[in-house]
Amino acid sequence: MHLKATNMNHPKVLGLGRVWRWPLQRAVHQPYGWLDEVVKERLGWYRGVLQGRYSAKFLLCKQISCGGDPRLKSDGELWQEHGRLSSELSDAIGICVKGDSPNSHLLKPEFSFLDLKCELTHRILRKCIFCEWRCKVDRLANERGKGCGLDSKARVSAFFPHFGEEPPLVDQNGSGTIFFTSCNSHCVFCQNWSISQDPLDGMAVSARDVSGIIKSLCRDGVANINLVGGEPTPNTHVILEALNLTSTNVSILWNSNMYMTPETMQILADVVDIWLPDFKWGNDLCAAKYSRVPRYFEVTARNHLMAYRNGDMIVRHLVMPGHLECCTRPILDWVAGNCPRALVNVMGQYRPEHLVLQQSSEYLEIARRPGLWEVDEARRYADHLGLVWRPVS
Ligand code: SF4
Repeated sequence: MHLKATNMNHPKVLGLGRVWRWPLQRAVHQPYGWLDEVVKERLGWYRGVLQGRYSAKFLLCKQISCGGDPRLKSDGELWQEHGRLSSELSDAIGICVKGDSPNSHLLKPEFSFLDLKCELTHRILRKCIFCEWRCKVDRLANERGKGCGLDSKARVSAFFPHFGEEPPLVDQNGSGTIFFTSCNSHCVFCQNWSISQDPLDGMAVSARDVSGIIKSLCRDGVANINLVGGEPTPNTHVILEALNLTSTNVSILWNSNMYMTPETMQILADVVDIWLPDFKWGNDLCAAKYSRVPRYFEVTARNHLMAYRNGDMIVRHLVMPGHLECCTRPILDWVAGNCPRALVNVMGQYRPEHLVLQQSSEYLEIARRPGLWEVDEARRYADHLGLVWRPVS
């Protein structure tokens, strides 16, 4: 996960007894992200939750009855029920938007749609297919994923209100960012490699701990809960359980490399209010060489499409030096053709890090920052395609 300018070098302090936390910073941004009418319209759901007009999707999931104890259902029955309840959720969202008010008509059932999702993720852990590595390891028996290196425990490396994200995400008090340890992708230039490439970094956390972190960030007045890493996907089970223990109305933001399976996407689509996906590579050769994942384009494009149909979205594209033709243009073409209403952050802040510095002879072609002309060219091309990037870049 390539982060925007952050305070990653800020000294850590211990918080909540067991996990690391940075102290609250002073707000340095005004909420100017909302001055733009296009941003208001395209991030309408997220803004509605931020203003308290809508209930976050995970809260709606908690109010929908799954009709019986999900632990007693077969896998097939769970997925069938999941499809049905997903439609029910769409109806509830429609009512919410139409009535422009929180969903007070719904009551807390004995077993909810979110309980069902938690049960599904728990079962997936026995033969993990959260992401397209599809390791099928039994993480509950302490086997570790081939891609992520994690067993069933989630680990958190840091959490704090983040002021380096896109303006609508920062708003007045920052984006409540939780950095989960480890990643299922292995970018040779990862700026955040000490967190993403060491599965034992940070502290092991329970769902209750994560819920405590969410509540603590919400007390700081953050605009959203920004789930990142590393990568949040291998920790889907703990995150959903944490949300099941949380009642604060706050948007859930999935900040991800989008290398999850369709099964995980189906589970997440009903709880994520706003997506912040990375779309880096326009072809599988570049992805295999620099991020070390197979079938990148097909998987990532499919998941962007699912996300686009199920929530607000800001696509991040990091302009890589020398990759305008093979990556930037194909990605912007694809976004314009398939997700034309997504906001796009055309990012120019790449810098050589991690293996690009340590094994520089192997990665000479990306051992430099992108030229200003490359970033300008990428943004001109985004303009040419009619993509909206200025308010979020
Ligand atoms: S999250 Fe991905 S890499 Fe990790 S165990 Fe599951 S399938 Fe494997």
